[in-house]
This record gives sequence, C-alpha cells and structure tokens, in this order.
Amino acid sequence: MTTTLWRHAACAAALIASMAAVSCGGASTPRATPEEAKRFLDDVDQTLKRLGLAQGQAGWVAQTYITVDTEALDARATQQIIEAVARFAKEATRFDGLEVPTDQRRQLDLLKLSLVMVTPEDPAEAEELTKIATGLRSTYGRGKWCPEAGEAEGCLNIDDITRIMAESRSERELRRAWEGWHTISPPMRGDYARFVELSNTGARELGFADTGAMWRAKYDMAPDAFTKELDRLWDQVRPLYIKLHAYVRLKLHEKYGAAVPETGPLPAHLLGNIWAQDWSNVYPLVAPASADVGFSLTDILKRRKMDAMQMVRAGERFYTSVGLEPLPATFWERSLFVRPRDREVVCHASAWSIDLESDVRIKMCIQPTEEDFTTIHHELGHNFYQRAYQALPVLFRDSANDGFHEAIGDTIALSVTPEYLVRIGLLDKAPDTSRDIGLLMGRALEKVAFLPFGLLIDQWRWQVFAGDVAPADYNKAWWALRLKYQGVAPPSARGDEFFDPGAKYHVPDNTPYTRYFLAAILQFQFHRALSQAAGCTTPLHRCSVYESRDAGQRLNAMLSMGLSRPWPEALEALTGTREMDASAILDYFAPLDRWLDEQLQGKTTGW
Ligand SMILES: [Zn+2]
Repeated sequence: MTTTLWRHAACAAALIASMAAVSCGGASTPRATPEEAKRFLDDVDQTLKRLGLAQGQAGWVAQTYITVDTEALDARATQQIIEAVARFAKEATRFDGLEVPTDQRRQLDLLKLSLVMVTPEDPAEAEELTKIATGLRSTYGRGKWCPEAGEAEGCLNIDDITRIMAESRSERELRRAWEGWHTISPPMRGDYARFVELSNTGARELGFADTGAMWRAKYDMAPDAFTKELDRLWDQVRPLYIKLHAYVRLKLHEKYGAAVPETGPLPAHLLGNIWAQDWSNVYPLVAPASADVGFSLTDILKRRKMDAMQMVRAGERFYTSVGLEPLPATFWERSLFVRPRDREVVCHASAWSIDLESDVRIKMCIQPTEEDFTTIHHELGHNFYQRAYQALPVLFRDSANDGFHEAIGDTIALSVTPEYLVRIGLLDKAPDTSRDIGLLMGRALEKVAFLPFGLLIDQWRWQVFAGDVAPADYNKAWWALRLKYQGVAPPSARGDEFFDPGAKYHVPDNTPYTRYFLAAILQFQFHRALSQAAGCTTPLHRCSVYESRDAGQRLNAMLSMGLSRPWPEALEALTGTREMDASAILDYFAPLDRWLDEQLQGKTTGW
C-alpha cells in the first residue's frame, strides 16, 4: 500500500542522515503494544476535537469581531492545538514499526505529517524558533514601503502596492513600486537562515531528513518520486505556458517598447501583479480583437437586485442539483455574508467548519459582482467537502492531499459557464463560440500564468531546507528558478544584499505552496471527469455539471473519503485514474492554443 511508502522513504532518508533518535523498523520501544496505540489514538481524537472546536470558535470571533481580546483568544487557542499536535507527533514515534490496523497506522503517520514546522526538543531552541517564526510573519504583515524616506506619511502597504501593480501602465511607476515592496524583506534574511536550521532540527527529531522532505512526505509517495511527478506535470503544460508567455511579451512590447525585449524573459514588474503570478490585470493590453463575451454578470446581478443571501442560495442550489444534501439551518444563521456596519471584520472570503462537523459557515462580504458569485461557488465547495468527511476520525477530516481542498471549489467555479447562467435564469442566451477566445484568454492569464510560479516557490524552499543553497546564495537561487520556470527577470540587478523570496507572504509565513500548483492542475482534471460523467458534449470550457446526479455521485464518492486513504485512491473515485494528469488543461484551452499558434507564426518563443 502506498500508505507505508513514504514511511520507508522517511526512515531511509533519516538513516542516511545518521539520526540516532529515529526509530525505524523494529527499533521502536519494546513496551509499545497495539492496545496502547489504540488508546493513544482515541486520546488524540478526543483532544483534537476539543481543541479544534475551541480554535474554530476563537478564530471565528477574532475575524468577525476584531478586538485585541479576540485576537489574544485566537492566538492562545491556536498555540494550544499546535503544542498538542507537536506533543502527539513525537509520542507517535513510539509506535513506529508496531503492527496495527491500516487505518490506525495511517493516523499515526499523519500525526507526524500534520505540522508544517516542528520545534526542536531543546527548550531554548524551541523558543528561539517560535520567536523567529512569529517575527518573520509580523515583519511581513507590517511591511510598508515609504517612497519619501523618513516620512511616515504616504507609506504604502501590500494593498496599495497591489493596486498600483494592477492599474498603473507607467513603466517607471511600476518599477518603483516593485523595487519599493522588495525593500521589506532584506531584514528577514538572517532570521530566515536561522529559521531553516532550527526547523530542520525539529524535522530530524521526527525522522525526516529536513523540513522540505517532511513536507514532501505528505503525498503518499517517496519524496523524490513526488518531485519527479511535479516535473512530469509541468512538462505537460509547459508548451502552452511558453506560447502564452510569447504572446503576452509581444503585446507588452507593443505597449512598453524597449522595456520589454522581443526575445528573452518578461520583466517581472509589468505583468499586473507584484509576484507576476496572475496576469489577469494586463488583459486589456493583450485582449484579442472582437472577443468581448457580450454580457456582464455583474450588471445582471445589479439589475436584478440580487442580495447576498440570494446569491448564496444560488450557490447552494448548484450543489443540491447534483444530489448533495442542503446546508444545515445553522449555516444560514451563523455565516457572515455582508460587511457589518458597526465593527471591524476580516472580509477576505473563507469557508469554515467550526466544530469539524456540521457547523459549517462562510465568511464573506458579498457584493453583487461576477467575481463574488463565482467565489461563493468556490467557498461552498470547501463546506460540502468538510461536511462529507465529518464522520471520519478527526485526523482524516481533511482533503485527500492539500491540493484537493482548493481544487474542489475551483472545479465547481469552472462550471459557472454562460450555459449554467442560462439554466438558472440569469442570462437569456449564451454567447456564441466566436467569443470563446476572449473568455479563454482571461482564464489563461489567471490559471496558466500561475502554474510555474505555483511550482517554483517550494522548489526554492526544498533546496534551501536541504542545504543545497547557502544563505549567501538565497537570492541568486530564487532568480535562477524564476527565470527557469516563469521566464521572468527583475527590473534591476538583484544582488545577495536582497532577499526577494521574503517579499512573498507564504515564505515568511512558512505556508507550503505546492498545494496551489496541484490545485491548479487537479481542478481541470476533476472538471473534465465530472463533465464526462455528466455526458457533456460541448467543448470542455463550456461544460457545466449543474443538475448532473452522475457527476454528483462521483464527486461525493471522493469527498466522503477525506484523508482516510492515499490520494491516488480518492483521485480514482472521482476520475477513474490514479495518476494526476495535466492534459485536461490542454483540452480546456485547446481553442486558445490553436489561436496562439496563429498569432505566433514566425515569432520567437521561449527565453
Ligand atoms: Zn479556497
């Protein structure tokens, strides 16, 4: 079974690293018995349910009623659950090598994989690591660029920078904002190097070669095999990315002249996003002629005066139309749908399962826009997933791998097609296929442009955690990967006095990133499989699985497995195959791919 694959791999890696503290194979404590393992897991289940509920409640009020006190309660509840998991993870090593039923073995293994960062046994080192991790996070959170040195007034935070990157068409202004934002991270570099050392110490105490190997071990396969798997997926979509890259370069050259070379990499500051990870904002500069879709869902929602509740009801109806149970009454009573007038809230859309069972909610400040209508479908995907696996042991109440949760919401959002809008009575007639290129170009600038970025963040971190890149070379290695995968280059020389990875939230926040790459691949694979189950015969980008019970059955079969089985089995339940496959992206964008070929005739591609 693949469940044990990664364990062997983790042990092998640990042995190579001569970690005396690890117990592999028969070397576990002789006193541990299967009965003790069972008792231990029961205790874990009860404790995590209790602490999980406390964390859910504290987190909810902290985000929907922001005060210093709710923030403190939230921090305390989070700290408690992290400490409990860390303690359990270390205790679980007692049962390494012990014969126990498969689902118990999986829970024991998952415990050791559920933390992103493991603090070392040594209390002084543990405290130092926790302090550095919090410090990195808050350095990013407080990050501001002050264009007038020494003047607090007029300083720009990430929201301001994001707006400039999205809206400005002045090369000079964009370069200044880009360079400005990247001044927040050099102070993180020394701390990050120490963070790497200490978190690796913790990971080794759990039996992993380093923190990166620990992250890769989450995927039910040997860490090296997983790396190869990612390369294979990237190779499938790379040709499409290269065409999109070449076409965008062509159009940006028309706009910006010499600032965008006709061959070579794209300048990182001219793609509408501070990290060049989503190019949607340059759509007006690259829009295909006469490809306007001819209607605006935002206008329709406004004209019909659809309120937030009605929009969420429409989203729920999508899921019930494929056969899933309606949401519980508490969802409607306890969710936050509109921005309250009397208090501060975190409006960023999110889906919650407060008690890890049926108390599911969304938190959104809904506006009558196309974007929010799609986001509702996405967020509800998380809620329906959470509810589908609510009866499993608490360690299995998660998606099959961390890419699956995001992928489900996005899969359903792909079904929000013009045809779907016609079926639910929001649109009279779907635009004809002559408009498809515009629709697909918009999607590609978001989804295809993201792929290499989604991949490279952890490629960099894995090298760093493994010690293959020394602190003095952090920035050099970062730009080597950005050039290799994304084909982008910085607007000016970036020496090692900079720490450009630190200007991306997920690095100082220490959030693994490969999940977003996987989600970007999987959502198209899921969409293709569900569309086939629904008997859809139109081009893939026009398929919606609305009202298909067959698609709903496939979906639910996978959702209800949670994390209880290795992800290839969950994938098989939905798609009929155990292999991730990026070819669905090529199917989806096939008309755009052909169109790009025409536009690029006689032009240079690649960099
Ligand atoms: Zn999401």
